[in-house]
Amino acid sequence: AIRVNILSKRFGATEVLRGVHFSVARGETVALVGPSGIGKSTVLRIVAGLDPAFDGEVQRPEAVAMVFQEPTLLPWRSALQNLTLVHPDLSDSGARAMLARVGLKGREEAFPRSLSLGQQRRLALARAFAGAPEMLIMDEPFVSLDPELAEAMLGLTEELIAEHRPATIFVTHARDEADRLASRVLELRGTPATLTPHLI
Ligand code: ATP
Ligand code: MG
Repeated sequence: AIRVNILSKRFGATEVLRGVHFSVARGETVALVGPSGIGKSTVLRIVAGLDPAFDGEVQRPEAVAMVFQEPTLLPWRSALQNLTLVHPDLSDSGARAMLARVGLKGREEAFPRSLSLGQQRRLALARAFAGAPEMLIMDEPFVSLDPELAEAMLGLTEELIAEHRPATIFVTHARDEADRLASRVLELRGTPATLTPHLI
């Protein structure tokens, strides 16, 4: 499970978050929503452990996977190496099977820049799940994809979440994504931002 207790988060003199408390159980998916600039990505970075400069505490499992809007791939490594270098315990055949899952069979040796943006994003998704994550963090993972690819990514993510059952928190602006993936919606509101829970 993830337990988050952010008493306060400041950037310089500006307090952006105050009193953001929530838990996500293993196998549960929570959507984080709110207007642009309110602090959603800041919460995710804190939850992921990428920003230690806050007042409060976060308990998280060890195996963490993250998916961002912009795929962050290793540019000079093949699609296959993007999985095996990040997950040293993953076998070659396991990595190939994962690539096939996301529709990248035959592109194992391709560098990221020779993949389409949609393929790069599927590669990033494969990499996230190749580590059998206990916690999954996604920041607007399906934004600015054409409707067909967004649907393919969403379906794939649904399947992989059902298989691995990580504690999942993701940011979205799309109500239909929240309805489909999440069992709870948390909304950030106000200045400094605080949490309002919603039932779907
Ligand atoms: P969006 O929906 O546009 O992605 P967001 O809810 O993810 O917005 P954050 O990126 O978390 O918003 O930013 C929250 C606030 O903190 C914003 O006012 C932003 O300008 C500010 N902020 C974020 N990162 C920093 C930083 N490194 N230094 C100073 N201010 C920052
Ligand atoms: Mg953001």
